[in-house]
Amino acid sequence: MNCPKCNNKMNQGIYICTANDNRILDSSGNLVFIYKTNQIDADDGEIGSYNDVYYCGSDSYFEPYDKQAVTEQELIQSVFKNKYTTKTIDDVLTKLVNAGLGTTEEIKNILKSSNPSVTDWSF
Ligand SMILES: [Zn+2]
Repeated sequence: MNCPKCNNKMNQGIYICTANDNRILDSSGNLVFIYKTNQIDADDGEIGSYNDVYYCGSDSYFEPYDKQAVTEQELIQSVFKNKYTTKTIDDVLTKLVNAGLGTTEEIKNILKSSNPSVTDWSF
């Protein structure tokens, strides 16, 4: 995907909320640029909320996209929409069972078939 402003190839990263700002991180977690500054209480649930994005560092442009999880941990983060979540795959299963999507065993099968790129399932 190319940047609509400068036509350079865009990179994959995340747009994440921290206590001080909303920022773009590259795929290794390094800061690319700060989009805007924040003042959020450290215990605010917003902190760690994120979107997967394509970004252009040259002109601070980014747009979200749906990233296919490649690890169980990425799936957990995406279900709870928080990069710093301490939830586990058991919490994911509980959440989906409680949402009425099926039994635990059915949901394990759904997760596996809908996330074929994840190879490190712990169940
Ligand atoms: Zn650009």
